[in-house]
Amino acid sequence: MKKEDLTKLEPHTPEWFEAMGGISMLQAAHAASLIIKTGKKEICTVCGDTPAPVGVVEPGHRISLRLCKYCQGHRKNTYDETFRVLRD
Ligand SMILES: [Zn+2]
Repeated sequence: MKKEDLTKLEPHTPEWFEAMGGISMLQAAHAASLIIKTGKKEICTVCGDTPAPVGVVEPGHRISLRLCKYCQGHRKNTYDETFRVLRD
């Protein structure tokens, strides 16, 4: 796959799943199961909660995600990572 900016992908689209599958098959499968379970795409990539804005976890992550407030706080407290919101 050619090098592209994966932070520009819309989370939970087919393109995103393809890219995420290359980074973490487990995370991609987990997100897919949450979407099937909730019947929604605009959900938190990690827990399936809403509202979950689109953004990028910094530093070090190279793909866009949706994260709810709880999961944003969890990443901050656990990994000292910041979620930079791109759009709601
Ligand atoms: Zn969440």
